[in-house]
Amino acid sequence: MRIDVITIFPSMFGPMLSESILKRAQEAGIVEIRARDLRDFTADRHRTTDDTPYGGGAGMVMKPDPFFAAVDATRCADREACNEEIILLSPQGEPFRQSLARELAAKDHLILLCGHYEGVDDRVRTHLATRAISIGDYVLTGGEIPAMVVIDAVTRLLPGALGAEDGAQLESFEDGLLEYPQYTRPAELGGAKIPDVLLSGHHEQVRRWRRKESLRLTRALRPDLLAAAQLTPEDRKLLLEIEEEEALGQ
Ligand code: SAH
Repeated sequence: MRIDVITIFPSMFGPMLSESILKRAQEAGIVEIRARDLRDFTADRHRTTDDTPYGGGAGMVMKPDPFFAAVDATRCADREACNEEIILLSPQGEPFRQSLARELAAKDHLILLCGHYEGVDDRVRTHLATRAISIGDYVLTGGEIPAMVVIDAVTRLLPGALGAEDGAQLESFEDGLLEYPQYTRPAELGGAKIPDVLLSGHHEQVRRWRRKESLRLTRALRPDLLAAAQLTPEDRKLLLEIEEEEALGQ
């Protein structure tokens, strides 16, 4: 997969791309990520990327033409053969979720467009981007951190990016639930013990415990996710157990 980021702050991506899993994934040839300077695609002497808003008002709006030129220079040569997505990061975009990260991980090429200041001339959204993505209901100063969020979530889903192949299968959100609690040594820390079942060596009991705790956490912390999840007959039984335990104050 190839990912190009179009930004006026390409150096913000340096530290992120040169550490840990993103670094390894690039070295292994699993993904090729480049941050490109939007100013390289301006046509004037001052390399202008923003201007005052039509209709008046405060702040600056990012000009559309450098984004069009940048995408032109960056997009796949053979568009038929290339599964490409041009994404504007925007608070007005569709909410970014694990399911969308999975969808994007199946593409050949992503172009991420980062806004700044008051935002981007809307023709970038309507006439250039194939979709707009928001990472949450809050406003940031720029699209760089949202682009990093998308890059990180997508890259770790690419085959071979994580050490263990099934690492990304059993996690939070993959089945619509939060993940069960995880523990490592020591088994007791200042009186806080890990659950006995995890020391039992009994695989079926561990599996059942994990599923139940995943349901318990999701029910307590994210009832919205639980309401939308596809539950098995075993899940329903476990939920009844959880409800009974709570009624008994356990
Ligand atoms: N005036 C705009 C906000 C602009 S914020 C509005 O009210 O909608 C400046 C830039 O930061 C945006 O163009 C976008 O690229 C990025 N940005 C800010 N918050 C974001 C979010 N929650 N998700 C994705 N991108 C965001």
